Amino acid sequence: MYPDERRILMTPGPVVFNMETLKHMLSTAHEHTSPDFAQIHGEATRKFRRVIGMRGDLPVFLLPGSGTLAFEAAMVNLLKPGSRVLVVSYGFFGDRWVTVSELVGHSPARLSSPPGERVPLHEVEEELSKGYDAMVITHVETSTGVRANVEELGKLARKHDTLFVVDGVSSIAAELMNCSDWGVDVVITASQKALEVPPGIGVLALCSEKAFSAMQENERHVRSFYMRLTEWFKVMKAYEEGRIAYHATPATHLVLALERSLEKILREGMENRHRRHAVLARAVREGVRGMGLAVVAHEEVAASTITAVYLPAGIDPGELRGAVRARNVVLAMPIHPALRGRSIRIGHMGAVNQNDVVAALAALERALRVMGAKVELGSGLRAAQEVLLGEGL
Ligand SMILES: *Cc1c(COP(=O)(O)O)cnc(C)c1O
Repeated sequence: MYPDERRILMTPGPVVFNMETLKHMLSTAHEHTSPDFAQIHGEATRKFRRVIGMRGDLPVFLLPGSGTLAFEAAMVNLLKPGSRVLVVSYGFFGDRWVTVSELVGHSPARLSSPPGERVPLHEVEEELSKGYDAMVITHVETSTGVRANVEELGKLARKHDTLFVVDGVSSIAAELMNCSDWGVDVVITASQKALEVPPGIGVLALCSEKAFSAMQENERHVRSFYMRLTEWFKVMKAYEEGRIAYHATPATHLVLALERSLEKILREGMENRHRRHAVLARAVREGVRGMGLAVVAHEEVAASTITAVYLPAGIDPGELRGAVRARNVVLAMPIHPALRGRSIRIGHMGAVNQNDVVAALAALERALRVMGAKVELGSGLRAAQEVLLGEGL
């Protein structure tokens, strides 16, 4: 057995973190009221805008919390009670947003697709024409590995004058996002996924004037102190101007790491970064198919950040995960109700490279064999290697 540090996390967050990024958290004194911190925080929000293709200087919020908090904050602040919200759900997280919307007093409706598929655009359009205040979509549905067509959905949202909210927790900084060009009003994400920073920051971006006005006009309906974005806005704005303001303590050391990670992400460039993830995702899909397993997501809609895989009959996901983990690779359990007990998920977001993919597939082959599945050693690796070689890797 290798020591823990050599364990490869192929999970949809937390991901394997880069030492260069983590080193920037090693500060014994970095208070949230120092000019240094204000400057770094301001840099982080400016860099984040570039990662999601956000023009202008509308607010980006770095909230101490997780992705779920960022989503809930968007719902509470931009839409008043009773608002009609259409959730286009491809699985577990889509369904979660219906629950959140309901709990905060909206009137949500859901359009769902079977696991591995999208809801057809014409169905979305038909539903939108009934009149909605907002449409919510999960960019990459982490439970099935399906990626939404955000650009096309954005056109529909514009046409029907609907606030368009995108859950980009599993996509931002790996999949392409051009929120200003694609008609996206709100993007939310979290630090621990493709942004490659430990858990603890929920990120929320108001990409349009429409979203910004919604926040201001809805202020009196917001019945939360912590999540009050009009207050957080003063803090975010102050930091961008190198000044200090306070609403609640920011996740100081995570912000230091986030700023460094964003620098690294922009240095790689979003086009290159997306291409890398797309190639590795294809190697994973071809690899598992080479072993005789089926991918949950239809090929045309498969995401670059996560792959859900059906297991052979009789192979228990929990036992398989344990057997793979004993070989120092960590996969994720299924969370979609229809996929539980018969599938496993391979995460490949963030700092993954071709060696991680090869090692993960090799561990999976051996673990499946140990559990008695009929898998020829090397069958998955051969298919994945062909993809990597074809891409010059
Ligand atoms: C992980 C995830 C979330 C939840 O984020 P938390 O940081 O765990 O709150 C939401 N949506 C998607 C698509 C995710 O993958």
